[in-house]
Amino acid sequence: NSHLSDVDPEVAAAVDAELKRQQTTLEMIASENFAPLAVLEAQGSVLTNKYAEGYPGRRYYGGCEHVDVIEQLAIDRVKALFGAEAANVQPHSGAQANAAAMFALLQPGDTILGLSLAHGGHLTHGMKINFSGKLYNVVPYQVSAEDYRVDMAEVERLAKEHRPKLIVAGWSAYPRQLDFAAFRRIADEVGAYLMVDMAHFAGLVAAGLHPSPVPHAHVVTTTTHKTLGGPRGGVILSTAELAKKINSAVFPGQQGGPLEHVIAAKAVAFKVAAGDDFRERQTRTLAGARILADRLTQPDVTDAGISVLTGGTDVHLVLVDLRDSTLDGQQAEDRLHSIGITVNRNAVPFDPRPPMVTSGLRIGTPALATRGFQTEDFTEVADIIAQALTPDFTDELAAALRTRVTALAEKYPLYPGL
Ligand code: PLP
Repeated sequence: NSHLSDVDPEVAAAVDAELKRQQTTLEMIASENFAPLAVLEAQGSVLTNKYAEGYPGRRYYGGCEHVDVIEQLAIDRVKALFGAEAANVQPHSGAQANAAAMFALLQPGDTILGLSLAHGGHLTHGMKINFSGKLYNVVPYQVSAEDYRVDMAEVERLAKEHRPKLIVAGWSAYPRQLDFAAFRRIADEVGAYLMVDMAHFAGLVAAGLHPSPVPHAHVVTTTTHKTLGGPRGGVILSTAELAKKINSAVFPGQQGGPLEHVIAAKAVAFKVAAGDDFRERQTRTLAGARILADRLTQPDVTDAGISVLTGGTDVHLVLVDLRDSTLDGQQAEDRLHSIGITVNRNAVPFDPRPPMVTSGLRIGTPALATRGFQTEDFTEVADIIAQALTPDFTDELAAALRTRVTALAEKYPLYPGL
């Protein structure tokens, strides 16, 4: 019964260092968040010891009476949160949720339509060396070269030409909302299923601040750790009609024992997401992203060849376009890292630079909103980023910006007492 620091000081020290990193820097990776202590507790609980293959009330192991309660709570809460007819809370991750959903709906060799990775889609939406690209015949759609938005006329044209069995709507790097009704109309026209992967914007949907895909899609997948702010994991929502197929695709189709400690943490996160504080937090998340987009479209930034894709944002992230800047994605990421702001470089559509370098940055506000950031704090961090990206970046300026970052981090202590 010894503690981590006694049993394994090396791992303990690295965990501690990671906590310090999270506390002292500003986290602006759009897919990250800070899970509440209650979620961390559930995920670090004795539930990790339990095997529970099967589903509540129908397990292949004894002793499941308590994990049944937990998993049923998670199912009921996520159904209520999103107004879904059925839910599977067992996928270990977003990628596994997508794999299971496709496994349920498709046969190998079937055609799927998904947003190209290079244009903001996810690996699991048909990237060549991902399972999705290997198992299925992928027809990618792109954003328009004019306005960088998903072009529904193009989706319709491709759907009619290729008659996919599944259309995937959803993204990892896209600053606008999708037209789910239009996707469904196209899917119906060609006899395809519509799957929406709302991993990124699920928290906004839960808060009622983004249109819900649930009324339109046959299947909706999500992660639970991005805007939703829970533990790392996945969920599949579906119509009642597809529930059995989905359940059997997850277990025994894709997974063995569910991670009941993670499912408990998901249940906690769904409870939190149904509350007023969560909605208020998502409101600040959106406001923060808009403030950032506004600041990064001011003349001192645009004069340096830097712009914001689509000119703004409707969601929790901003895509910075560096194609006309001397700074590439890697250099911009490194520069922000040097002053204590963590973001990730990201290819922009039609990116001339290689994928390891890129011409873009993806900057998100969920983690800072969770930390407590208000309008004035987002205004301050937006100005810090704008100054860091402009050409006259000197050691002196870096030191001054780092001091401003530290002041913001100290204003909102993270996990006090941990
Ligand atoms: N779907 C989308 C849209 C994502 O952005 C991601 C993660 O980046 C995933 C799925 C995969 O989630 P995970 O990393 O949990 O497998």
